[in-house]
Formats: sequence, structure tokens, C-alpha cells
Amino acid sequence: MKTLRLREGKERSLLRAHPWIFDTAIAKGGADAGETVKVESFDGAFLAWAAYSPASKIKARVWSFDEKQRIDEAFLDGLIEQALHSRQLFQIQSNGVRLVHGESDGLPGLIVDQYDDTLVLQVLSCGVERFKSILVASLMKHTGLERVYERSDTQARSLEGLAPSTGWLSHPQTPKNVLLQIEEHDWRLNLDVEQGHKTGFYLDQRESRRRFAEYAHRLSFERVLNCFCYTGGFSVAASVGMRRAGVFSKGGHVTSIDSSASALKMADENMRLNGFSSEHHTLMDADVNASLRLFLQESRQFDAIVLDPPKFAPSHAHVDRAARAYKDINRLALQLLRPGGVLFTFSCSGGVSAELFHKIVASAGADAHVDGFIAERLQGAMDHPMTLNFPEGDYLKGLVVIRK
Ligand code: SAH
Repeated sequence: MKTLRLREGKERSLLRAHPWIFDTAIAKGGADAGETVKVESFDGAFLAWAAYSPASKIKARVWSFDEKQRIDEAFLDGLIEQALHSRQLFQIQSNGVRLVHGESDGLPGLIVDQYDDTLVLQVLSCGVERFKSILVASLMKHTGLERVYERSDTQARSLEGLAPSTGWLSHPQTPKNVLLQIEEHDWRLNLDVEQGHKTGFYLDQRESRRRFAEYAHRLSFERVLNCFCYTGGFSVAASVGMRRAGVFSKGGHVTSIDSSASALKMADENMRLNGFSSEHHTLMDADVNASLRLFLQESRQFDAIVLDPPKFAPSHAHVDRAARAYKDINRLALQLLRPGGVLFTFSCSGGVSAELFHKIVASAGADAHVDGFIAERLQGAMDHPMTLNFPEGDYLKGLVVIRK
């Protein structure tokens, strides 16, 4: 068994059960990609069993803090079983569910999303890569599902020195359809596991979409703007609430903006799938920032606006620039809301804390000379859990602001 010896004082985060070991913490030792290593403090005390990643700044990720634990098939099978069991404790109204969320489930670098009868896997660390076939067999055994697709093609994987890997890992019969459908709350959504973002869809916004539908119904939104709409999740949610409120017969309308033509095509399909035609909605292939400025020039006003942009700050180094970008779109959106209108605004940047995001939106309001009630704070859905030991899990944060 190979050993990593840490430098003096570098054992502290491990003693708090944080699972990452950075290159700067290591005094000596190394191993092959994904190999299990024993991690010791500077004076030789056992700290953890971890998976080694030679190319990454995060040189090792912990499997277990228990010296007696063997890192083998039975151990990994137990982790998968636990992850699936915990989903039964969460309230999830969908057959699109994140079954494994990396570090939060004790499986650093493994993401598994279930879309109806299909599992979609992302492998983002050498440790998981090494045990991939064992993990896939365990997932299939515990879920009873036979269709498994891999979408390991993100930037995070290249930081690990791993080449992209995509395609079916298991499929019982042909045709091997990559277009899937899920039922979420009261609506249905199509998604593409081959071409879509992440594993195909943003499951993490499930609860916020539900809240948006409830607001649309309760406050009878008539003019809704969904910015960065991707495949139209918030547009469908709003429309379902608006239909319930009976506003479509009074000219209710949803406008959705995205700069990706393929996402907009799917958004159009998703609106039709739920019974909404082009008379109910407009899709704009455009830049959000430019569109918001244009709407202001045209003196347009909205009852509700969603701002769910891509990750503006992938790391702490980008936070200042990201803060300016978030502030810009929030200022414009607050100006476009009528008094009493509702803003659902999000950041999915790990580098932007909830507190900082709040400050950014507040300063956008100050610049726009607009005040608002902070009606709610939102976060990722429960199947993307944050844990006490892993604060980095807190990436998605949102605010619901009602304009005064
Ligand atoms: N709200 C969506 C997820 C949004 S993902 C959901 O619930 O499913 C972010 C989206 O922003 C992507 O679809 C991307 O194509 C789009 N995007 C990125 N930059 C953009 C820009 N400048 N203008 C318009 N859309 C943009």
C-alpha cells in the first residue's frame, strides 16, 4: 500500500472530515492514477484512505477516515446503496432525480442522474474512473435499470488528466434513444442526454421551478420573461401556473431568451408538449444583456422575470468580473419589473457566496433606484445535497425579490 505523508499542520481539514488533499499539503508520496493510498500526518498517524490524482491540484480525495475500512467492491456498493436510500428521505416530485452528488454522497467525482428509466453518469475523478465498472454494476443492481449513459466530457475531467468519455455503457436493445422525457411536478420535459448541458438537464432548479409556477398562479402573472431559458423549464412552469390562473385568455404571454439555438428548439418542444402554442409564448435567440437593454428602450414591463445565467465565476479568481456581470443583469431586470412584480434571480457560481450574491443584488437595486422585498432565499434541490463537512457543495443560490 502506497502512503502520502502530509506536511506539519496540514492534517487539520482531514480531522474535520473534509475530503480533499491539495498538492501543497503533501510532504512526500505518490501513486498511480486512481490508486488507493494511505494518508498519514507528518508524524505518521493514520488519517484516511484516499484516491490519488497525479495530474490534479487536488491530489487525493478521501474514501474513508476509518483505518479498518477496506476500499473494495463491497465498500463502494455500500456507498451507492446509501446514496439511493437517502433519496427516499428527500421529497422529490419527479422521475428525474440526482442519485449521486459527488462528495456529498461520499463518492468524490461521481455524478449520477436518473431520467425515468435511464441513468446518466459523470466521472470527474481518477478514483471513480478506476472503479467505474464496479460502480456502474452496483447502480444497475440497486436501481434495476439497464440503460446507462456516460457524459464525462466536462472541464473538471481534463483537470484530472482524464480524456473525455461519452456514450452508452449499457443498453438492452436498439434503438438507443438519447432523447428522454421526465415528469416533474405537473409538467413533462424532454431532454437530450447526448447534446444537452451537464447530464442533459438542470435538475437542481426543480424546486425553484415549482415555486415559480406557484407564484405565477397566485399572483396571476400575465407578462413573464425567462432569461437564460435553456430548454424552457421555468417557461413551462410559469405557463402551467398562468393557465391555472386563467390569464392566457386575457393575453398572458411568456418570453424566453437564450443564445443557444438547440436549447430553444427543445424549449419550443417542451412548451408544446405541455399544451402551450406560439400564441402563448415567444422564443428569442439573443443575448440576454442586449435584450434587457432593448426592452428598457421600448419601455416594456414584466410581472415576473427569471435570471438563471451560466456560471459567471468558475473559481474565486473570477469573482470580481462575475459580480459586475450579475449586477448588470439584475439592475436591468429590476428596472423592467412593474411595481409588485417578482424577480427570481440565481447564481450557480461556487465562488459567489449567498452573502455576496445578496450584496450584488442589493447594489443592483440601489443603482436602479428600485427597492424590493426579499421574499425568499432559494437553493439547489435536495437531491443535490450540501453536507456539514463539505461547504464547497453550496454552489446554487437564489433570491425571490418582489419590487416595491
Ligand atoms: N434556467 C435553465 C438553465 C439555464 S443554463 C433551466 O432551468 O433549465 C444557462 C443558459 O444560458 C444556457 O442555456 C446558455 O445557452 C444560456 N446563455 C449563456 N450566455 C447567454 C447570453 N449571453 N445570452 C443568452 N443566453 C445565454
